[in-house]
Amino acid sequence: MPREFRPGREGREWRAARAAVLVPGVTCAWPDCPHPGVPLDLDLPRSDPWSATVDHHVELVDGGHPTDPANLAPMHRTCNQAKENRRRSKARLTPPKTRPATRLRPRRPSPSGEPPVL
Ligand SMILES: [Zn+2]
Repeated sequence: MPREFRPGREGREWRAARAAVLVPGVTCAWPDCPHPGVPLDLDLPRSDPWSATVDHHVELVDGGHPTDPANLAPMHRTCNQAKENRRRSKARLTPPKTRPATRLRPRRPSPSGEPPVL
């Protein structure tokens, strides 16, 4: 069975969108980049932490468009990873949805001494 197609990670449309973002002279879009204003090296191998990646401003899992240029930005691999780590830690800080605590109140026994009806 073929694996799921990922439009923001592969395919002709993605490669074209990626090529349009990663043009010579672009700089990293991560605000906390340790090398702000320094053009990305487009020739570094993928294994290099300073290789060029294309970041989705709004991540695909959050409903971001996979190939809309407005949602894409050049970024170092390591900066992209830092952004992803921050996004995940923020997600962890968001309190999980819990059910109302109505069942945490102690039940009073009924006046007749019968066990409460659940
Ligand atoms: Zn960077």
